[in-house]
Amino acid sequence: MFYGLIADFDHCPQLQQRVLSVLHRIPEVVQRDFLEDPRFRITLDNYHPEKGWTLWMATPGPPGSGSRCVVLRRKLSDCAEGFAYYVIAHEFAHAFLRNGPWGEIQDIEEAADALAASWGFRRPDPENGMAERGLSGSPSC
Ligand SMILES: [Zn+2]
Repeated sequence: MFYGLIADFDHCPQLQQRVLSVLHRIPEVVQRDFLEDPRFRITLDNYHPEKGWTLWMATPGPPGSGSRCVVLRRKLSDCAEGFAYYVIAHEFAHAFLRNGPWGEIQDIEEAADALAASWGFRRPDPENGMAERGLSGSPSC
């Protein structure tokens, strides 16, 4: 049922499988939020070369407007599975939260981490610093 969300990953089957695994494990309310929003997309970063390697982009505008696009790096296909799951879940958390706070957690990165952790995707290595930065060249990925 998620195939429409992951069609961009057809030529990257391992990452497609990882994205699918995370999609299956997140709560139904989040799945529905993604599936029912035609603006929600998941894509590979090289589809948007002009945007560099920014993973999450919120189009400027009032909340609820603009597109919701989760951009994943191709590297997530090769890095440690637990780390890839965590990054994908973290990005989904941003998307679900509209890149905003979660409850009392005002810091959007902490909010995304906390929400992803509540889904069972904890940051694998707390010493590793920011996952997103890690993606740009951390030895762990
Ligand atoms: Zn983040």
